[in-house]
Amino acid sequence: MKRLAILGSTGSIGKQTLDVVRAFPKDFRVVGLAARNNLELLASQVQEFRPSVVSCRGSREKMAPILSTGCEACDMEEMAGHHQVDLVMMATVGEAGLGPTLAALQAGKPVALANKEVLVMAGGLVTSLAQKTGVELLPVDSEPSAIWQCLRGEDRRVSRIIITASGGALRGRSIEELARVTPQEALRHPTWRMGQKITIDSATLINKAFEVIEAHWLFDAPWDRIEVVVHPQSIIHSMVEFEDGSVKAQLSPPDMRLPIQYALFYPDRVSNESISRFDPVAVGSLTFEPLDHESFPCFRLALDMAKRGGTWPAALSAADEVAVELVLSGRIGFLEIEKVIKEVLKDHHPVMEPSIDDILDASRWAREQAGRLVEV
Ligand code: MG
Repeated sequence: MKRLAILGSTGSIGKQTLDVVRAFPKDFRVVGLAARNNLELLASQVQEFRPSVVSCRGSREKMAPILSTGCEACDMEEMAGHHQVDLVMMATVGEAGLGPTLAALQAGKPVALANKEVLVMAGGLVTSLAQKTGVELLPVDSEPSAIWQCLRGEDRRVSRIIITASGGALRGRSIEELARVTPQEALRHPTWRMGQKITIDSATLINKAFEVIEAHWLFDAPWDRIEVVVHPQSIIHSMVEFEDGSVKAQLSPPDMRLPIQYALFYPDRVSNESISRFDPVAVGSLTFEPLDHESFPCFRLALDMAKRGGTWPAALSAADEVAVELVLSGRIGFLEIEKVIKEVLKDHHPVMEPSIDDILDASRWAREQAGRLVEV
């Protein structure tokens, strides 16, 4: 039985992780649950799973009903390194996942990583710490999971990684049309049900750049060997081409519970009746098209920053987090996401070969800058 800490348990990945736990009650015990603000859902999860430790942002007073079940309050770093925990599911969003991921790795706990900003901000530091401590980073994002599955059993004679992209909610729209997009339209993802931040990031395609960055760090893949192709059906989750020209792909209907389950059970595969199966005839055709860089410039912008290295991608990621919040609250338009990020980066003084503190400083700075831009 694996004992799990689920950080971000009230978010989309957190809830689906608990679904997997419900389907396999003999294989997992939940010992830690962490949420940000959704105390109501956290309380019901605590009632159901009876963890030893909980973490959330509420006051002690507000947390009283949760703590009355006998669990203890702690912060996310403590939970990630807790002695009862065998595996940490990092299902938080944005910068919040960075500290706990490092804490888990330092404590020798394997991390199932859904929080992609962790690798965007600090991919070099996180992967080298994992290597040093000999702890596994298990990808949960569907594309890195697909690459991981394709690489299994291979001796890494890889010539190309091809990451697929649904194209997001706004695929096919011109710049003029994008200028009038509402947050509701940008949140209407055609194939995946996900949290708000990642759905907006999918609409700008910055999410796809983040996945290239994840693949770069997780699989030690050179930038020029990672390509992206738009595949609107979201059936092929990514492909790997080997030196002989043969290509392996991982296919399944879009359901995050599959990559979650794969990471939780790795190296085993188990049958889960509630996850639907691929039906080739029903799907009919799988199509591919190039990325539209003109309408979705954030993809290239994010990759350029990642290639520059240092604190550039951390500043970019933080500026994007703020810009997405501003779009969701209706304070800026969809096309202004790129403008906010660019404006912030214009004044960034990078630290090359940064420490974690340098990365967190860059992130804090970028947040403040992005916030200030909108005030004036
Ligand atoms: Mg993905």
